[in-house]
Amino acid sequence: MIIQLNKDISESQKNAIIKKLESIRYKSNEVRTQAGTYLVGIGKAVFDIREIGHMPGINDIHIVSDHYKLVSRKWKVNPSIIDLGDDVRVGEGQFTVMAGPCSIEGEENIRLTIDHLAKNNIWIMRGGVYKPRSSPYSFRGLGLDGLKLWHKLARKAGIRIITEVMQVSQIEPMYDYVDIYQVGARNTQNFNLLDELGRVDKPVMIKRGISGTIDELLYSAEYVFSAGNEKLILCERGIRTYETASRNTLDLNAIPILKEKTHLPVIADPSHGIGIRDFVEPMALASVMAGADGVMLEIHPEPEKAFSDGQQTVYFREAENMYEKLRKAYELLNSWR
Ligand code: PEP
Ligand code: MN
Repeated sequence: MIIQLNKDISESQKNAIIKKLESIRYKSNEVRTQAGTYLVGIGKAVFDIREIGHMPGINDIHIVSDHYKLVSRKWKVNPSIIDLGDDVRVGEGQFTVMAGPCSIEGEENIRLTIDHLAKNNIWIMRGGVYKPRSSPYSFRGLGLDGLKLWHKLARKAGIRIITEVMQVSQIEPMYDYVDIYQVGARNTQNFNLLDELGRVDKPVMIKRGISGTIDELLYSAEYVFSAGNEKLILCERGIRTYETASRNTLDLNAIPILKEKTHLPVIADPSHGIGIRDFVEPMALASVMAGADGVMLEIHPEPEKAFSDGQQTVYFREAENMYEKLRKAYELLNSWR
């Protein structure tokens, strides 16, 4: 059960509710986020919701049968929208493109990408400064200095930054320079990282684990929400299957399933999802049609020279065509709704 508490609830009113929950053998977890205070009740007993709902200090009460609670659509029918300021939003009602190189490579690379994005009316740039690489000898990113330079250039152009945070100790130093923290597929179940991101007032996008189920992704989001941060975005980025013809298998099924299960925005990453440049566009279009709220794309002025993931990275010119098609597809889909 989720109990939304009134903003001005007194301690004694809250204690009375907690006591009442104890009396029906429900454990209560208090969650304080940017948007409100909740009591998440965990228990099995069947009870009459009216017994609790009338208690002073309660704004609303919901029975949520899912095991994850706060991220469930069962209590929050309206979709969550992440507001990044100046009309840049992520979530239902707008189609978001986040694009940029796999890794942030240096000043020229940043400048060219920013110009390309601004020209194409794209306001969120992706790029890794801390790169999780399968081999320790591969390029592992420019680190905080790279992020600071990127931030300086992006701010001037009004571009927002989404970038991966790999460990707890990076959260604080990165804080002033990111607009969305990205949790990578290898860290989806790093519960310490998720807990700490719950204590930060900045949006977080969680990618689905390489071998993670849809429910596991939702539980990961529940970690962040229940620790106090409800500015959350989910990302389907492909899973590992027995198929070897593509890098991963973009699980398009996950998109409508997630949209039904959660009120959080759902982004698709066809670049990592298929891992083959020429097929990023059809999978991006398919993601739109499956109901994604946006896509994350790897683009580069010279993909063959990219420091990482060049094989799945799209040229700027091709990307421009893709943005047009994606926007048209989104409009078409909405015209059917
Ligand atoms: C990335 O977005 O660059 C990345 C490393 O993605 P993932 O965590 O999905 O592999
Ligand atoms: Mn990549």
